[in-house]
Amino acid sequence: SSFKELGLSSSMLSNLEQLGFTQPTGIQVKALPPAMAGKDVIAMAQTGSGKTAAFGIPLVERLQPKRFVVQALVLCPTRELADQVAKALRELARAKENVKVLTLCGGVSIGPQIGSLSHGAHIVVGTPGRVDDHIRKGTLALDNVTTLVLDEADRMLDMGFEEVVASILAQTPPSRQTLLFSATWPAPIRKLSERFQINPEDVRV
Ligand code: AMP
Repeated sequence: SSFKELGLSSSMLSNLEQLGFTQPTGIQVKALPPAMAGKDVIAMAQTGSGKTAAFGIPLVERLQPKRFVVQALVLCPTRELADQVAKALRELARAKENVKVLTLCGGVSIGPQIGSLSHGAHIVVGTPGRVDDHIRKGTLALDNVTTLVLDEADRMLDMGFEEVVASILAQTPPSRQTLLFSATWPAPIRKLSERFQINPEDVRV
């Protein structure tokens, strides 16, 4: 299978070519069709599988750069992963003009983040605690979110983020697309999926 057969825009195809992504990985072949069709997806995928682009490509393709509001939220268990995901999304977003990606993680002061948010962003990548802090302060509004990603969801639950994640999800429109990525599939993840996804497509490699 090739990226061309997966229904991507020509600007995304040439961007992927520039990034050296000549062929989709296994998880991309399986996750991209339902994700591009707007469906909810549960993807069992490990680090190194190409999982970031599996959610990043459909997220960027759906984005409307002219609407300067937060349209996508990616929740990650750690700051290291959030930084890595934000970097990958910035590369994928070169397929569109002027896409702003902001990271919101704990362990750094909140003031500069509030300043950055006041200037606007299309995509927010962050850790649950700090994202929730911004929602409570009224500095982050999620009512225009069309794509919600839970990356390494099992690790987020292991870290005790279940209720915070649930409370963040409750602040997003029910019509959103929810993409759930996890390396393992324990009961709490199944419960999270049942609570927050609609007819999810199950993909694994
Ligand atoms: P990830 O599993 O998302 O952390 O991705 C692992 C690495 O694979 C990253 O360095 C990506 O840039 C790279 N990558 C993802 N998809 C592809 C692809 N289709 N072709 C080549 N490299 C890729």
